Amino acid sequence: QHLARIAELDPTIGAFLSTSDEPALAQAEAVDLERAQGAPVGPLAGLPIAIKDNLCDSDQLTTCASRMLEGFSPPYDSTVVARLKAESAVLIGRTNLDEFAMGGSTENSAFQQTRNPRDPERSPGGSSGGSAACVAAGMAPLAIGSDTGGSIRQPAALCGIVGLKPTYGRISRYGLVAFASSLDQVGPMGRTVEDVALLLDAISGHDPLDSTSLPLPPTACHTTVNEPLAGLKIGLVPEHFAKGLDGEIDAAVRAAIDAYRSLGAKVIEVELPHSRFAVATYYVIAPCEASSNLARYDGIHYGYRADEAAVAQELAAERKALLAAGDTRAADGLDSNLVRLYRRSRSEAFGPEVKRRIMIGTYALSAGYYDAYYLKALKVRRLIRQDYDAAFEKVDLIAGPCTPSPAFKLGELASDPLAMYLLDLYTVGANLAGLPAISLPCGETASGLPIGLHLTAPALEEDRLLRAARMYE
Ligand code: GLN
Repeated sequence: QHLARIAELDPTIGAFLSTSDEPALAQAEAVDLERAQGAPVGPLAGLPIAIKDNLCDSDQLTTCASRMLEGFSPPYDSTVVARLKAESAVLIGRTNLDEFAMGGSTENSAFQQTRNPRDPERSPGGSSGGSAACVAAGMAPLAIGSDTGGSIRQPAALCGIVGLKPTYGRISRYGLVAFASSLDQVGPMGRTVEDVALLLDAISGHDPLDSTSLPLPPTACHTTVNEPLAGLKIGLVPEHFAKGLDGEIDAAVRAAIDAYRSLGAKVIEVELPHSRFAVATYYVIAPCEASSNLARYDGIHYGYRADEAAVAQELAAERKALLAAGDTRAADGLDSNLVRLYRRSRSEAFGPEVKRRIMIGTYALSAGYYDAYYLKALKVRRLIRQDYDAAFEKVDLIAGPCTPSPAFKLGELASDPLAMYLLDLYTVGANLAGLPAISLPCGETASGLPIGLHLTAPALEEDRLLRAARMYE
């Protein structure tokens, strides 16, 4: 049924970069057979799950929506994919994203545009826009995304589904193509909080293959998610409702907070004094780590390689011209074939946003600027984390809007990177502080665009976060 729905809708939505029709059917049939034979099967057995195309799967291409990895077939499974396979889940297809997860609209994909199922003229958000769109359109009941600065929660909000970014270290990053390693976290996306809890339990838990994975067992949130919380204290940050926030979102989020009040929760104002620096801090740290992580794409080890013969010819021609002019020194100083191959491969295969991040990151990390930018950003990051620690002495959760505006028109922000970056103001704090945070639907605008309620919890409090989300849902 899901494959039929993909065939019907995805030519318009463009959520999938590839689907795995026959293996998916075979896997579903194998589960049916096991069930018929009375074999014990796990809760995810036979369920179709879509995977963001930046998690390695040895049976599928993993492109990160980049020409650099076009046609790349990883030799191993990421831990998340391996765990889903072990649960007999049906990995139905690979979803579109902003190239290397850099962006907030999925428009930075090198391959295709993804449309918001609620309004195909609009973006599904990003970078996990394909995962959000396919769940919102009923092409898969569950999907995996990754969240470095909001990439699970923001598209979930804009498409009207639930998306969770767990505590940093809760889920293994082994086999997740690295963007900004200290911020990246894999997470579940689904139509309901309960579904998201189910998927979290399956993919979380310690992994010796990821040195930043926390030494903890998998979560067991699904068993408790329907138990309401008594005496909940919800923090509200007045700054999150300041000018710049869309009026309908403001009203919907306030109504959601009132709903918590009527469920017996206490609502308390808290301060996050450094949160106004969060976007700036994020857009120093994330590009710095990205520039370092993306150095591996050199055109030699794997991925895209520029035309070597053309590179050699270019060098030979330049050399010849210099020698003919009698400039032996310049001829000897020309960049080698190898350096030219690196440069050409990277110039040809990376898209403009990825290049922008590499340049910003390389600049901010260079001698002379490191202290002024990168080191300063690390210090502010610490202050942001301390603000959350102080706030969580008074409250159990912080509630607010997930995005400042509802889904925007495709093309509307594509030429204005700074405007796009500013949309991340409510989501990047949780990544900088390593905290779990969720977006869940809390109504829609008059024109029918979904609105997301954003809840943030202290580290490792996914259980409380999901129960609180479920209470409202
Ligand atoms: N929009 C943010 C960025 O462009 C977040 C992306 C993400 O979480 N992967 O970096």
